[in-house]
Amino acid sequence: MTMAEIIDGKRFAEHLRAEIGRHVVRLREQHLVTPGLAVILVGEDPASQVYVRNKARQAREATMASFEYRLPHSVPQEKVLELIERLNADPAVHGILVQLPLPPQVDADRVINAIRPDKDIDGFHPINAGALATGGDGMVPCTPLGCLMLLKHRLGDMSGLRAVVLGRSNIVGKPMASLLLRESCTVTIAHSKTRDLAEECRRADILVAAVGRARMVHGDWIKPGATVIDVGINRIETPDGKGRLVGDVDFDSAAAVAGAITPVPGGVGPMTIACLLLNTLEAACRQHGLPVPA
Ligand code: NDP
Repeated sequence: MTMAEIIDGKRFAEHLRAEIGRHVVRLREQHLVTPGLAVILVGEDPASQVYVRNKARQAREATMASFEYRLPHSVPQEKVLELIERLNADPAVHGILVQLPLPPQVDADRVINAIRPDKDIDGFHPINAGALATGGDGMVPCTPLGCLMLLKHRLGDMSGLRAVVLGRSNIVGKPMASLLLRESCTVTIAHSKTRDLAEECRRADILVAAVGRARMVHGDWIKPGATVIDVGINRIETPDGKGRLVGDVDFDSAAAVAGAITPVPGGVGPMTIACLLLNTLEAACRQHGLPVPA
């Protein structure tokens, strides 16, 4: 029996995208600026193709300019870097996103470091990562930003709450922990070497799971009433052979204990793309010396 409130990320993201769309229209009408998002996809990975298609479609729906660059799987690294150089200099492009993963001949760090930090809407550039870690003003990675918005909406002031972030990747776990620290939570980052993971999780008022392990977090790992944010996207086999997506949290057992929980799909995923559009809008405002919408 589900007892927890289901945090509807899909609906929240729809509202956010509509609001972003209104800001985009105002920006164009008042300042003749159309935010532009450039997405680079290398290779034919089916999941990446779906992500890129969704990002481009939602950018167009928000009436942003969307530029897509599809490069073959065998493309040499220099060609990718050349394209980024060109986009860095293009005034119609305010945000550049390189869809990961990249093929082995292309060094992801070199590619990310080549993006102009003020156009790095993924927030992965070391300057932006450093700004987040030191309390500065930079681009915040989209997935943790989306998680934070959902948390703030549900909890309001999070000061003093115990937060556990499961996972320490540069794109989710670490920036999520920095954001929660910025909200004055007491933050623990857990990972594959953490001893007694379940016990760490049971202390959490806020539990963010970003490990990439299907249904790893069970209800008995969760403090009664906790807010659970499930970042994981894992494809599992089903008897009919079609497969389905599940999170890192075992939804049914967790929902019987938690106070609120995000579903998969329909939780964090839609927020990630909405925050990408938000970062593109902010980047456009900053690059034109205009105030960033509140
Ligand atoms: P990574 O593989 O980069 O990082 C996974 C982290 O989980 C690592 O820190 C790893 O620890 C830790 N981990 C792995 N296994 C265990 C375990 N058994 N016990 C404890 N910790 C473990 O993944 P990402 O951060 O990129 O992504 C995490 C999940 O989030 C994935 O399912 C991904 O698909 C999803 N995702 C969803 C997004 C969305 O929009 N909803 C966006 C981005 C990611 P260690 O460092 O010690 O190896």
